[in-house]
Amino acid sequence: MSLNNLIYLDNNATTKVDEKVVEAMLPYFSEEYGNPSSIYDLAHTANSAVRRSRETIKEFLGAKDSKEILFTSCGSESANTAIKGVLELNKTKKHIITSKVEHPCVLNLYKELEKHGYKVDYIGVDSSGDLDVQELAKKVGKDTALVSIMYANNETGAIFPVKEIADIVKDINPETKVFVDAVQAAGKIPVNVQETKIDLLGISAHKFHGPKGIGALYVKSGTMIAPLIVGGHQERGKRAGTENVPYIVGMAKAAELAMENLDDELCRVKKLRDTLEEGILSKIKNARLNATAKNRVPNTTNIGFLYIEGELILLHLNDAGICASSGSACTSGSLEPSHVLRAMGVPFTSLHGSIRFSLSRYTTEEDINYTVQTLPHIIEKLARISPFQKELGEILNH
Ligand code: PLP
Repeated sequence: MSLNNLIYLDNNATTKVDEKVVEAMLPYFSEEYGNPSSIYDLAHTANSAVRRSRETIKEFLGAKDSKEILFTSCGSESANTAIKGVLELNKTKKHIITSKVEHPCVLNLYKELEKHGYKVDYIGVDSSGDLDVQELAKKVGKDTALVSIMYANNETGAIFPVKEIADIVKDINPETKVFVDAVQAAGKIPVNVQETKIDLLGISAHKFHGPKGIGALYVKSGTMIAPLIVGGHQERGKRAGTENVPYIVGMAKAAELAMENLDDELCRVKKLRDTLEEGILSKIKNARLNATAKNRVPNTTNIGFLYIEGELILLHLNDAGICASSGSACTSGSLEPSHVLRAMGVPFTSLHGSIRFSLSRYTTEEDINYTVQTLPHIIEKLARISPFQKELGEILNH
């Protein structure tokens, strides 16, 4: 299959950069190469581009003031800046609350912080992937410096009630800061920080058809954070380093495009996702829907195939020109089942055979039809060589 015919269903890993985004970025690599901090006209053009981009991201996140938007290099940097930035200025408080299903850029940071005297409570999810908000509420106390909860889960698409969580946290302890990792929400569902009590919220451009290597952090006016990168006075002293002008412009263009068509696209993508889910579940007897949360981002599904190895499914899908992803991450040479699916209690029989399909505005009906036609044959083929043939029995619904 040629790369042009690829069916790309791994948009939660990264997305194709929109051509209009590339077009918007190009001048800032060549003729408009000024450093935004210099004082001549060339620099003013770059400076204005950064200023306009900040306004756009302010609108994208529903912030009050563009001063609340800080440019970073990625979602991981946004999370690290928020978390370390808050804790550095609240050294007496040593308690943090997060969820068991956060992205590794958050979870691995908390593992580090635990080694330095922090107590971290990891809140669980139920079998649908929904967060136990009651448990979270019980954990908030006088010593809680930070509550950090993702907006949408990258593996299941489950949307967490971050507005409600921020309200609960602030009711119990107004001084506790709330950080939301919105990397998988921005561009997929409307985000409006002003309607919430969230203090910090991170995004990453490459998840919504912008370039890789650029992100943003919303820092509510009055919220103090220590900088992660110290140096010049860029980003109001909160993040040193010459601004990455072409990428900042690219992220703003991607945000603008996402805002333009959000509602229509959400409906279209959700319909395709539902067709994919229904098609797979109706045709393949050993398929189980893992992602059944009350609210889900419209582009994501996660399906387990009993007794079949996920990596094998992915390899066969790749041969058929379809890109998807398994819940497992390759750690130190061993295939670890997904921490998200484990937290949901997905049974061992389908834990290793779970596949995430994530769509985008480029996904077509043909892509979905082809996937629904192709996957059953792959599963049937793998079932025939599975050591669990007896348990599997008949694979396809005819
Ligand atoms: N948070 C979530 C929920 C993600 O899915 C990702 C990336 O997959 C990140 C954070 C990290 O973003 P980045 O790759 O821009 O560092």
